[in-house]
Amino acid sequence: MCRTIAQLDAELTACRACPRLVAWREQVAHEKRAAFSDENYWGKPVPGLGPADAPLLIVGLAPAAHGGNRTGRMFTGDRSGDLLIACMHAAGLANQPTSVSADDGLLLLGTRVTAPVHCAPPDNKPTPTERDTCRHWLTAELTLLAPTLRAIVVLGAWGWQALLPALSESGWAIPKPKPKFAHGTQIELAPATPGRSPIQLFGAYHPSQQNTFTGRLTPAMLEEVLTNAAHAAGLPGHRR
Ligand code: SF4
Repeated sequence: MCRTIAQLDAELTACRACPRLVAWREQVAHEKRAAFSDENYWGKPVPGLGPADAPLLIVGLAPAAHGGNRTGRMFTGDRSGDLLIACMHAAGLANQPTSVSADDGLLLLGTRVTAPVHCAPPDNKPTPTERDTCRHWLTAELTLLAPTLRAIVVLGAWGWQALLPALSESGWAIPKPKPKFAHGTQIELAPATPGRSPIQLFGAYHPSQQNTFTGRLTPAMLEEVLTNAAHAAGLPGHRR
């Protein structure tokens, strides 16, 4: 069992538990997209990003084939990352509005970003088996973050469904019936284990191109949820 976030991140990058995803991430890294043909793709599981004592966690879906799977960093080098990091910067959760490469100087402020599946899946669609196989990494991450964690933003219904069992396994009570995902929803999860604090759980549409091109999600909508979550997490500059 990992004792620190740094150990978790290091062990995660060596995981080969999902044969289909291992084959895909490595095939994409070998073939590359023409625009990135001179780059060395990461081609491995992409760990979470941000401080180990973050009060706020943002949970996405999985790395993008030519984004995180190329750069080795969550929400880095793809359109979803462009929007998320710009909104995080506007909400005071990142030191800069762009996320282009692992050495671009980006720092997340009191916030960690992770995903229920850590390897890029074909068509951005992990199978239920792959989701369940990867869950122990998320459960371990939640457990290690628990001492400081006070709020979570989930990007999209798929991530919402994947996160709830991991939250249950890591010491929080999930209401019955299970809370449904909606953009802007906020619910409080009570502790189910001694030593846990209540968590405010927020839903937001995923900053995918599908959602932004159709106008389903605007930067203002995402920024508003992130700002509310930062308030709930008690981050400096966001306390009411
Ligand atoms: Fe391992 Fe998760 Fe990648 Fe599967 S998706 S190989 S469990 S890191």
